[in-house]
Amino acid sequence: MPEAIPQEVSLAGSRINWRDLFAETISDIDINSDFDDIIKKISLGISLDLNDGLYLYNHWDVNSIAIIANKVKEARFDSRAFFNLNVHINQTNICTLACKFCAFRRGRNSPDAYALSIDEYLREVANYDGLVDEIHSVGGLHPDWDVNYYEELFSKVKKFYPDIHLKALTAVEIKHIAEISSLSIEEVLRKLQNAGLDSLPGGGAEILDDDVRKVICNGKESSAEYLEIHSIAHSLGIPTNCTMLFGTIESTEQRINHMIKLRDCQNMTGGFQCFVPYPYLPDNSRLPEANLATGIEILKTISISRLILDNIPHIKAYRMNLGDHISELALRYGADDIDGTVHMESIMHLAGSKAPLKHSMSKMARIINDSGCRAIRRNTTYTEFEEIVPEELPFTMKLPMSSE
Ligand code: SF4
Repeated sequence: MPEAIPQEVSLAGSRINWRDLFAETISDIDINSDFDDIIKKISLGISLDLNDGLYLYNHWDVNSIAIIANKVKEARFDSRAFFNLNVHINQTNICTLACKFCAFRRGRNSPDAYALSIDEYLREVANYDGLVDEIHSVGGLHPDWDVNYYEELFSKVKKFYPDIHLKALTAVEIKHIAEISSLSIEEVLRKLQNAGLDSLPGGGAEILDDDVRKVICNGKESSAEYLEIHSIAHSLGIPTNCTMLFGTIESTEQRINHMIKLRDCQNMTGGFQCFVPYPYLPDNSRLPEANLATGIEILKTISISRLILDNIPHIKAYRMNLGDHISELALRYGADDIDGTVHMESIMHLAGSKAPLKHSMSKMARIINDSGCRAIRRNTTYTEFEEIVPEELPFTMKLPMSSE
């Protein structure tokens, strides 16, 4: 059975329910009375529903929404905000599907298609030895690779780098591997866990609405399958993250329902560590009908996810998608994490991201400090290592409007 979701946080050596702390601190603030009912629900431990989510999305006062979301964040984590040392390595870009939003996948005969052998993958990992403690590894649905490739890959990575956390394979990759290996999802996850898989990333949730999925990622796992695969992982003790790709063709109602489905799943399993909402980036993809998210919409979505997902501890402002500037702002809108130093990343960059790679810890700390938070280096499962204080001056963070 899943463990109960912890509602208590440590504060000055004592345990306190974060909702009580929220109720106490929000009462000191003069805030728009339009949000009285929302604040009351949060304080009383009543989860927000679809109408609450729509109310928040449709309300003009984004500053008040941000204050409420930030107070929830502070009640859970005080002034701490998290990052880790990580790299993204993609084992292959060859994919049997062709999701319309995807700028990464290639057909097998494409001139820039690749599929790393185990040795090539290990050589890639060697480039980051000592620099990272997490490998984030996802890729296309390779038509030939069954579970044996991944078992060998993970066990070799763990043999040479036993301390590295392997966060790998999205739900659709697990489903694909199960199908071509003629195994169940659970059998695949057990084999991969034994080989060294530590956790699953949350990618591939997109919008958990099958009508939307049919248009933007036809052939991918269904909404129910995404939740089922994550639930099975949780039942095996494999923690996972969950995501939301927004700003394609979905309505705000579908976004809120997406969050509520994740919350319901979390109530059953307790295995989601972190929610990562990120907007669609349109370069090199095939969704001209997409309704791209604006800056305010991105920040509001961060805040609303913090308020609706009251049982998922961490809300991540995904730096690789949002860039440093919006990620920094998001820490004032309810996020508590900006992902990592990221020594290499391709998927978001192929879609148009200009987010800088290879940040030093000091630079991560400077971004976090500027938002008024303390920068805490964590590992993938949110064990907190140490507070990092920025050292480097001058600070050189390329403005998003500056040329390359
Ligand atoms: S999003 Fe994943 S499954 Fe879809 S085309 Fe891209 S690589 Fe393939």
